[in-house]
Amino acid sequence: MPSTSRLAEQTWTLLNESTSQPIRDVVATLILQHRSTLATTFYAFMLNDAAARPFLSLAAVEARLKPGLQRWMEVLFCHTTRDELAAALAMQRHVGEVHARAQIPVGLVAKGLRLLKHDINALLIETPLERIELVRAVVYVDALIDVAFEEMSTAFVMFSERGARTDEAFRMSVAGHDLALEREKQSVALLEWEARFYRMLASGSAADEMPNLQESEFGLWLHHKAPMLFDDSRELPLITECVERVDEALFPQLTLGRDRNMQSEVNRDLARAVLKQLDEIKFLLRAMFDRLVDLEVGRDVLTQLFNRRFLPSVLKREITLSRQRGRRFCVLMLDIDHFKRVNDAHGHEAGDRVLQHVASQIMNLVRSGDFVFRYGGEEFLAVVAAVDQERARAVAEKIRQQIEAADIPLSGGQSVRVTTSIGIAEDDGHPDYQRLIERADKALYAAKEGGRNRVVVA
Ligand code: GH3
Ligand code: MG
Ligand code: MG
Repeated sequence: MPSTSRLAEQTWTLLNESTSQPIRDVVATLILQHRSTLATTFYAFMLNDAAARPFLSLAAVEARLKPGLQRWMEVLFCHTTRDELAAALAMQRHVGEVHARAQIPVGLVAKGLRLLKHDINALLIETPLERIELVRAVVYVDALIDVAFEEMSTAFVMFSERGARTDEAFRMSVAGHDLALEREKQSVALLEWEARFYRMLASGSAADEMPNLQESEFGLWLHHKAPMLFDDSRELPLITECVERVDEALFPQLTLGRDRNMQSEVNRDLARAVLKQLDEIKFLLRAMFDRLVDLEVGRDVLTQLFNRRFLPSVLKREITLSRQRGRRFCVLMLDIDHFKRVNDAHGHEAGDRVLQHVASQIMNLVRSGDFVFRYGGEEFLAVVAAVDQERARAVAEKIRQQIEAADIPLSGGQSVRVTTSIGIAEDDGHPDYQRLIERADKALYAAKEGGRNRVVVA
């Protein structure tokens, strides 16, 4: 039996037991008599309510909502058979779905129903019902509205969850086949805008001949489509900020620089500032796409290491193995020292090269049974199996020395050197892997505090 009809069945039995037909008739008559006034009072209140106001327009209230509420009361309070009650409850499901689609907060619906109860009760008090009958009638109205709300909220939640799953599926399906193309298109759109911007600066033509960044193809994509793909990404708001900076801080200056001399001076600074913002946007855009791809494949695109999504499974498994066989393992947390300086001095691309280089050095120095994760931007985490902390320290020391000694080639014949700080924590039998990570992290922090380029054991 579907849950609606089960609820209808239960409600029918319950109401028949507690409320006699004459009392129910009184309620039905009262509703038929006063439904128009009740609906009017109800929406007059709602139109004045700050939380409800955004969902209502005067026109909609008059044309649809008031008649709708009257029908709703009639169906709910004037049913005479079990089937009619079942139909009334089915209607509540529909209402719940409509509320979900309109994103009307459940709290607001509860408030409305409370209001309605209050008004109906006030009318009941005016009827010539005896005291005990009056109580029965009030309880009856109360029960019916509560059941209606129960059905409505169940449907509301089910519908919202289904929506969330569809959103997720949509994101994934877009991610599946279109991602490379999407990424390519957006870098091209951004480059095209950049080229137009420079042409405009060079020719000295007026700024209003080209769209600002928000109105460009890239800007439109950013505003309309990107939120679907990257709704919880931390890069998206940063990109939006950069775009706004270009449009609101840099573009307006262009129209001001009418004087030729001034103009070239201003324009040089502008060009530099815009280039900086566009660079930042490209970097963030790439990181944002990478993360989405990572999520699908479980590997970090840049370094080919595992991404941290699998870290909990690996650590849980190691902890179980260690408990069963009594063989300890260690976690190594490695962070590149002053990595920001590499980016600042040589650009993000050089920074990426360094990350790849460091990742492959770590991979070469651990055994094939160990796991290496890209833990954060320039942080790596290695799970080193079946070693105690002294062996782990030796491994870490070797990694640190080799990275320090390496000249990392950059494009254009340059090279760069980096150092690393490493924190180590040995598994101490604690079942919560998060604690192990925290201990390694603390050790890493101590290594940084101690002057960097060193290994510290927790
Ligand atoms: P510390 O020695 O204290 O670790 O200093 P730091 O500069 O390495 O640390 P901080 O956390 O201040 O900076 C980390 C930088 O790493 C900032 C961020 O822009 C950069 N970064 C993070 N992920 C990436 C990436 O994928 N590629 C590049 N090129 N840079 C990245
Ligand atoms: Mg660092
Ligand atoms: Mg760091």
